[in-house]
Amino acid sequence: MEKQIFRIAIDGPAGAGKSTIARMAAERLGFIYVDTGAMYRAIALFCLRRGISPKDEEAVSSAVKEAQITITHVDKEQRVLLNGEDVSGQIRTEQVGNTASAVSAYPEVRAHLLNLQRDLAANASVIMDGRDIGTCVLPDAETKIFLTASPSVRAMRRFKELKEKGIMCNLQEIEQDIIERDQRDTSRAAAPLKQAEDAVLVDGSDMTIEQVVSIIMDTAISHGLKVKQSV
Ligand code: C5P
Repeated sequence: MEKQIFRIAIDGPAGAGKSTIARMAAERLGFIYVDTGAMYRAIALFCLRRGISPKDEEAVSSAVKEAQITITHVDKEQRVLLNGEDVSGQIRTEQVGNTASAVSAYPEVRAHLLNLQRDLAANASVIMDGRDIGTCVLPDAETKIFLTASPSVRAMRRFKELKEKGIMCNLQEIEQDIIERDQRDTSRAAAPLKQAEDAVLVDGSDMTIEQVVSIIMDTAISHGLKVKQSV
């Protein structure tokens, strides 16, 4: 592959499959995969550990200054460090996800993570997923994808995922949770979840992972990405 910096931004609501798809496309392209949701989750974990209510904007905004988030990659897998501790596993709970959704609405929290996100994309080709990558973090990304799926499809996927992990759950509750999280993410004032004007909309409700990955790769190629024949 020719040496070029190419950035692919993938935004969309919770459970649309962004991370699975972004990870797979990054692997094929030899890009670094950056999961920005994990950074918000690490801040959420920090607040939960300190007993700070996610509703208390002042307390969260003040505490966040003491939460140093670092990203490393081990075998191409992203690891998130919170003040030096690898919390990559601990941030994957529903409680942390819901807290992340609440604290990510605060401008101080977003500002705290913005430079870290931009730095990761400064010198390397990346696929970065989140909610505001195309609109705010990397407005000049060469390719922007807005990946969505219906709430019922997203809830069903999440339900299966949790069941496989042996976690008891209720499909209707999961769907309700997804709808509430969408509502919070799209209605906040600071960097809301929104399709960038120049993003390609992909509704993956009736598509396989492979089909979505192909669309992303084809879109990037149409935007000038040079790939080896074998990719
Ligand atoms: O993608 P994930 O579910 O891990 O993200 C957790 C929460 O972090 C989201 O619900 C969203 O509120 C927030 N987030 C964000 N901006 C991003 C990535 C995630 O606000 N770029």
